[in-house]
Amino acid sequence: MKATTVLATLLAAISLASGFAFAQADETPPRVAIVVGPSTHPPGTHEVAAGGRLMKFCLENMANVPGVKADVLYQWPRDPAVLEGVATVVFIGDIFPPMRLPDPPAILAQLDAMMKRGCGIVCVHYATGLRAGDVGENGEHPLLGWMGGYFATGCNHHRSVAKIFREATVTPAAPEHPVSRGWREFTFDDEPYIQNYFGPDGNKLSAGVTALATSMLPPEAPQREIVAWGIQRADGGRGVGIVMPHYYRNWKLEDLRRMILNSIVWTANLEVPAQGVQTTLPDLAVFEPGGVEPLPPAAKKPKNQP
Ligand SMILES: [Zn+2]
Repeated sequence: MKATTVLATLLAAISLASGFAFAQADETPPRVAIVVGPSTHPPGTHEVAAGGRLMKFCLENMANVPGVKADVLYQWPRDPAVLEGVATVVFIGDIFPPMRLPDPPAILAQLDAMMKRGCGIVCVHYATGLRAGDVGENGEHPLLGWMGGYFATGCNHHRSVAKIFREATVTPAAPEHPVSRGWREFTFDDEPYIQNYFGPDGNKLSAGVTALATSMLPPEAPQREIVAWGIQRADGGRGVGIVMPHYYRNWKLEDLRRMILNSIVWTANLEVPAQGVQTTLPDLAVFEPGGVEPLPPAAKKPKNQP
């Protein structure tokens, strides 16, 4: 009999005899909280609520990481117990959602306590974003420590750039990192933010921060831009920032989806399988977006005409 089996039997016997139930760590499924923030983007873009539901579906149907439970929260829960024991929290929305939901200081304080107990954090696309009014004069914000960087949009201390690139190639930057498992370089039409902010020391990555994916952008003056990064924090927690996808249809890209799901699994302190997280998506319309495809560009009005 294995030692663990002996222990389990012993605990069961004691619990029967004493009337107490012994909760075993492996009996509770790992829980992921997906927080959907406000968004005003047109159909087919951002689609934060549908994106949240899509991630829940994927996380609960991973072929090779069974037993994960995910909840989509459309507002910050009033009852703090909802987030107790959550392994990682995923944000999707326009700007880092805690700054756009009611009572940001209270949310940041609760998040701080969660991070200190080792909870993970993942932000997707615009949820990596902070504006001038959200940060201190020199760009200070707790998200920098929790996640290792952010998309500094309209900030004074640093200017990140948002632009649709018709062909951006995303390359794995840390092949040995668990998040890199099972996805390869891919090219897509999207808005991966560039010149993201990593800290006051000349924008160098802080200790514990790893570039996970890079892209040579913009095409007219290419530099190796970091478009996904991860941090192993001193408090034991992990964070990942991924500055895409802008277009809802890009969730269909298996490599991008795997990078995001690997990140969620990694920040939940679970083992990322050697082949990366395996998922099969149903039709994207199932998650009820405003539109699977973006609206066609509005016809330009001829100049100098009434
Ligand atoms: Zn966007």
